[in-house]
Amino acid sequence: MTPTLPPQKSFGLSFEFFPPRSADMEGQLWDAVLDLGAWNPDFVSVTYGAGGSTKAPTLSVVRRLIRETALPTAAHLTCVDASREETRSVVEEFRAAGVRRIVALRGDPASGVGTEYRPHADGYANAAELVAGLREIGNFDISVSAYPEKHPESADLAFDIEMLKRKADAGAARALTQFFFDNDVYERYLDKVRAAGIDMPIVPGIMPIQNLTQLKRFAGRCGASVPTFLDRRFEGYEENPADRAKVAADVAAEQIDDLLNRGVTDFHIYTMNRSGLINQVLEQLGRARRAQADAAA
Ligand code: FAD
Repeated sequence: MTPTLPPQKSFGLSFEFFPPRSADMEGQLWDAVLDLGAWNPDFVSVTYGAGGSTKAPTLSVVRRLIRETALPTAAHLTCVDASREETRSVVEEFRAAGVRRIVALRGDPASGVGTEYRPHADGYANAAELVAGLREIGNFDISVSAYPEKHPESADLAFDIEMLKRKADAGAARALTQFFFDNDVYERYLDKVRAAGIDMPIVPGIMPIQNLTQLKRFAGRCGASVPTFLDRRFEGYEENPADRAKVAADVAAEQIDDLLNRGVTDFHIYTMNRSGLINQVLEQLGRARRAQADAAA
């Protein structure tokens, strides 16, 4: 499917994908990449290491993106469970593949989210150290994570923001946030981030809801809250995929529209390797923005 509206936009977009774990998922990923590429994203990114895997699946997707598409491509990289030498050799492989953009992350222990994190004895202790290490290795465009509702391991938001400042000071160009659904939470977070002297863009992570029940399970592990208004929006539509997708598209389009009205200019979209819902979101958003422009004219 290609977007039915022209892929014109007045805001920045990036799309996050993950390496496929089966042949079916592989087809789905590349269909999604082709479809969503029509929206002219500023970059696409490929996650790293989740579920105990390491560099190979990420490297393989990133290589193909660089070889076969014109999409600016960022590789995610985690430093958990790796020595500095091991991390450096992954970075060299990324660089040899043509990677110039990295999303630099600490990551979670392979034993799972919630397991106590212990830095590798010879490794980078956190993402701020990784960013500093990357700056020594090469001239990469570096994105990092940010958590408007605080990282689950962090004692409080102030400490989280201190960690974000360390990442900015180490040379990160922007932060991509964990997904959230309450724009007031993001705005309050942004105020605190700016008050802490952090100037880099804090790009909201938008998660169009493919499945509310699954999202709640996942969000609980990430420390992201799922407001009750979403239960009300989806009520009665659970069994009908088309209606559910319409609600999901409306919810995400309204969220982006509201953020645009608050002055946000860039969005990082968690695609879950599916283009259908994302196309619906962006088309719905285009209709809403045009209607607003017509009403104001
Ligand atoms: P950091 O920025 O280093 O730290 C996050 C928080 O943990 C800090 O703010 C602080 O509160 C606490 N903390 C860190 N170090 C210390 C310390 N020394 N003492 C006390 N508290 C500390 N995971 C993957 O496995 N692969 C991916 O590709 C991936 N992509 C992601 C993309 C985005 C946009 C986001 C938001 C997250 C992603 N994650 C990914 C998840 C991420 O790896 C986890 O959230 C992980 O737990 C923290 O990594 P980080 O880079 O945010 O850590």
